[in-house]
This record gives sequence, structure tokens and C-alpha cells, in this order.
Amino acid sequence: MEEKNKLYFDYASTTPIKENVMEAYVNASRMFYNPSALNFMSIEVKNKIEEARENILSILNAKPKSKLIFTSCATESNNSALRAFIRRKDKKYIISMGEHSSIYNTAKAMINEGYQIDFAPLNEDGRVNEKILFSMIDEKTTFVSLIHVNNETGAINDIENITRELKRLNPKIIVHVDGVQALGKIDVDLSKLGVDLYTFSGHKIGCVRGIAGLYIASNLNYTPYILGGGQEMGLRSGTENVAGILALEEAIKSLKITDLSGIKTAFIKNLTVPYKLISNDSCVPNIISIAFYGTRGETIMHMLDDLGFIVGTGSACNSKDKTNRVLDAMGVEKQTALGNLRISFDAIEIDEIVALAEAINKVVNEYLTKVKRN
Ligand code: PLP
Repeated sequence: MEEKNKLYFDYASTTPIKENVMEAYVNASRMFYNPSALNFMSIEVKNKIEEARENILSILNAKPKSKLIFTSCATESNNSALRAFIRRKDKKYIISMGEHSSIYNTAKAMINEGYQIDFAPLNEDGRVNEKILFSMIDEKTTFVSLIHVNNETGAINDIENITRELKRLNPKIIVHVDGVQALGKIDVDLSKLGVDLYTFSGHKIGCVRGIAGLYIASNLNYTPYILGGGQEMGLRSGTENVAGILALEEAIKSLKITDLSGIKTAFIKNLTVPYKLISNDSCVPNIISIAFYGTRGETIMHMLDDLGFIVGTGSACNSKDKTNRVLDAMGVEKQTALGNLRISFDAIEIDEIVALAEAINKVVNEYLTKVKRN
């Protein structure tokens, strides 16, 4: 693939690999020994994996004796969490309408298999409607899965308070949280959050693709999703992705939460075309969902690509869907939602975001002029 000098604003989809993480990955790739074998080199590799596990659990302030299993991606972690705890047809389960498709589509499939899974609605700001969520809980509800930071809008669910209230309403409830877009962007302190299960993914935090994690609190009776040779304490079989695991450790060690609100402000300030800002001030600033009236997001995205700017339209996994489920659940009009772009970034230069705003002004004006002419 020919590398072009494009400016990248689709970090919520995936991130460039950080240099130190790449180095850790390359070095660890040379350690090809199978961690399950009993030779001396294999035992050394196995020890490195255990060290990485302990370090990650410690950085995330996990509860003592809790577990972390390494998976191939957050989609696997999310599927595994649902399959592990949605097992009885006489019980009730809840997810929100704001979940990533790896939760939402798994839940839909499981409903077809006969499980009772209900969907908690969203507020206009993209967060789960807590009042309705709590009213849905009864003694039959045993599992709730919520997204921490929404991947389309950046809306932040108040997981600490929600978990506390869910467990007050029914202490038997197990809470799973999809933290893929939260890690590295807001404080993730697993003890403070009080959750039972927490998903995260390497490639969203400057790590390689193909490695992710699922945190499992110590008291849980977790049924493995992938069976086989009994790796990962018997909870996730398959030969370990050693290089991925050590790269993930490095990526998590080097996470630094930075205030990106100035970049969001500069972007908005430099727009001269009419828009609806879907991500409000309570969202993480690094994900901006914005709709340009009278346009098609997909077309604008391609026009920007031609000019050297890469942006997203909703989530990458969702880009083939005709309607946007999450924006729909927030009450955004379909016609407006069609003109939606997702701009997501890390610590970039103000000049870069200003250049993007100017490019958007240009292509949106071009688009609207063409539509008027036709
Ligand atoms: N959950 C959220 C919130 C995401 O944003 C994504 C990726 O877009 C996923 C899960 C799936 O992550 P992965 O690509 O590691 O399967």
C-alpha cells in the first residue's frame, strides 16, 4: 500500500502503534517459545506473561485476587462476557441501546436463542437513561452490560454510581462494562468502579491489533467461551499471543490522560458551515460526533479523504448500516444523522484540527452548492 501523507482523525476506530510499544512487540516476537511447554525458555516466556498480567491489573487498580484474561480483541471479550453470564432462560438480562455492535449483535443473537435480554434506552446526551434502567431491575435480573464511553459520541456513563445502584437494587447482579473507549481517556480504576467484568482493547490505545483483555473480579464463577488446551487459567484456551500481551503491557504502562478539550474547542470555533453537534460538553473531547445539515456523511468523508483527511462516519464496524442505531436511540432525526461524521483524535496539534475544520467548510459548501444546482 502506498503511504500518503494524510492527517488522521479516526482514532476511535484504531490508533497508530506507539514507538515504544512497537519495540516491545518486536522484541517479544523473538521469544517464540510456547508458554505452555515445560522447557526453560518457555517457562521464562510464561513468567513474562504473568508479570504483564499482574502489572496491568495493578495499573488498573483491580481488586485483590481478580483475574485478567488476554483475548484476541474486545469483540471476543464482549462475546465471552455475555456468553459466560447469560445462561438461563428463566433469568433476565439488560444491555443499553448505546452498546457497541459486539455487545448489541451478540445480545440480538441470544434473544433469538430464547434468552430474555432487554434494552435500556438512552438520553438525548447519549448516556443510558439511568432512571429507566433502574426501573427495569427486579429479582430475576442477573446481568447488566454497559458501555463506559460510547464509541460514536464519546458519551460517558457514570459507571461507579450506576454499578452501586444496580447492586443495591439486586446484589446478585453481575455488571460488565465495555471500557474500550474509556481506557487512556478517563480514569479507569476497577476497584472504584466496582464492576465485575471490564473489557478493553489494545489497538485503541496505541498497541497492535489482535490483543485485548477481559478483567474478571475474583468472586465470579466464569464459564469460558473458548475451550481447548486450558491456557489462561483454563478461562480462555489458545496459544498465547506473547508479543501482543507484552506490547499491551507496554501500551498500558505508557498511558497518559491528557486534556484534549482545547482541540475540540478549536475545531468547533473554526467551522463556518451549519452543523448539529451531537457530542455535548459532558462527552470525552477526543470523540466528536457532528452532523452537517443537508449532507451525506459518507460522501463528505470521501471528499475529505481526497483532500488528505481521514475521518470516520459512525463506528467503523457499523459503517455499512444505513441507519445509525445509537444516534437514533438519542432521538437524532434520521435526516440529520445521515450527515454525521465522527472526528476522533489523540494529542494532535491545534494546526491539524484547524486544517480539518477548514477542509470541512470547503467540502460541505461544495456539496451543498452541488445539491442546490441539481
Ligand atoms: N467496544 C467498543 C466500545 C469499541 O469501540 C470497539 C471497536 O470499535 C469494540 C468494542 C471492538 O473492539 P475490537 O476491535 O478490539 O474487537
